[in-house]
Amino acid sequence: MPDKPKVAFYWCASCGGCEEAVVDLAEDILKVVEAVDIVLWPVAMDFKKADVEARPDKSIAVAFINGAIRTSEQEEWVRMLRRKAGLVVSFGACANSGGIPALANQFKKEQILKYVYEDCPGVDNPAKTRPQTETTDEGRTVTLPEFRSMVRSLDEVIEVDYYLPGCPPTPKLIMAAVGAILAGKLPPQGTVLSPDNALCEECKRKDSKPADLALTEFKRPHQIQIDPEKCMLAQGLVCMGPATRSGCEARCVEGNMPCTGCFGPSSRVKDQGAKFVSSVFSNIAPKEAPEIDKVLDGIPDPIGTFYRYGLSKCILRRKLN
Ligand code: SF4
Ligand code: SF4
Repeated sequence: MPDKPKVAFYWCASCGGCEEAVVDLAEDILKVVEAVDIVLWPVAMDFKKADVEARPDKSIAVAFINGAIRTSEQEEWVRMLRRKAGLVVSFGACANSGGIPALANQFKKEQILKYVYEDCPGVDNPAKTRPQTETTDEGRTVTLPEFRSMVRSLDEVIEVDYYLPGCPPTPKLIMAAVGAILAGKLPPQGTVLSPDNALCEECKRKDSKPADLALTEFKRPHQIQIDPEKCMLAQGLVCMGPATRSGCEARCVEGNMPCTGCFGPSSRVKDQGAKFVSSVFSNIAPKEAPEIDKVLDGIPDPIGTFYRYGLSKCILRRKLN
């Protein structure tokens, strides 16, 4: 019997939700396990770095890597997996475009360390001790990975073959990707494995989205009773649907919550946040500055709203000062 293809799962700066999504394949996980040999999956199995390092280059058929890249250790791991794997799939919003961890790119490394180890309420650290990459105590030396100056997406560090979007990707998309890889029926390198349309096109509420929204205020989901039939934007809620790739089956909107943009942009959109701002802000009813500002006050965190999952890949990328 021929060897089964070898598959690796790895996580970098991640919440663990993408790993959970693999577990959430339910009975389908058994089909995956039957079809492949899992040679690395830190969340579930005890493989060591040395086990992977000892494998011949390209001996792993595919590595699914989730999470963004923040530390030297994450960078070392993904460079090694790139050598060992024939295909690398960037798995989920954090790997694809920095995700939630990349929101830290609004701050300098020193600001983050100072807040976390000194200023954060609840921190008791009078000596202002910070983690060091190397510490020697009683003749023994321990090391920690280096905390890099910014968060990067996976493809800013290594070459990526395919992208699975989402926070996390849906079981349907994961199974379709695994099926295509096992069958050798792969699209061109660099493809995002999800339909290339705006979410609004697959949303059941699209017929209630007026051509001119005539927005007089923005509201946050907890401030109103959301109409379950009507377009979110028509209710004054920020819904990233017009600037976001489809393929999630509009799960958030189906759950009566606006889209927050985790699938990233479609191929025709260069910058997801800029696309949203340009398409929706032209629908603000007031035309004079003070009134426009009053409407925009309804969005207290513009970067966290328009670039929640994509700060490391957008035009802005990071805040310098
Ligand atoms: S993409 Fe979402 S679910 Fe996956 S690691 Fe990032 S935050 Fe977690
Ligand atoms: S803006 Fe949101 S609710 Fe409205 S059609 Fe688009 S995805 Fe649906």
